[in-house]
Amino acid sequence: MSEYYAAGLPTPSPEVDPETEPYWAAAERGELVLPHCQSCRRPFWYPRGFCPRCGGADLRWSVSDGYGTVHTYSVVRRAGGVWASKVPFVLALVTLDAGVTVQANVIDCSAEQLAIGLRVAAVFERAESTDLPVLRFAPLREPEVESP
Ligand SMILES: [Zn+2]
Repeated sequence: MSEYYAAGLPTPSPEVDPETEPYWAAAERGELVLPHCQSCRRPFWYPRGFCPRCGGADLRWSVSDGYGTVHTYSVVRRAGGVWASKVPFVLALVTLDAGVTVQANVIDCSAEQLAIGLRVAAVFERAESTDLPVLRFAPLREPEVESP
């Protein structure tokens, strides 16, 4: 029987501070935003209040379309704590089309689909309705073409 990497992974509650508030506010709207350094003119990841390349603090938050490609991944088959009952699950590095690489889980994906180079799209998932929305990626589904 084929493995399936389902949604519904437990998530430790992220900490929101003034520097990351724009990220979390966008996530609440279902939008992925990336911090763009106004000195380097490039985005970076993870969200924080300064650029990791030049230290600049003049940032602009820009909406990403959330599309990316699996750069590499690992299937986690043993885990402790709240994750013990959720194995197997996937931890991946996803390179967004915007150029930054994000570590996140790939969900709603079968073992047959999972591959380096798989096109994925950002999704936000909450374990509980009161939880913060956590960034994950799911295989990109081709839009259905309506016949005339
Ligand atoms: Zn910079």
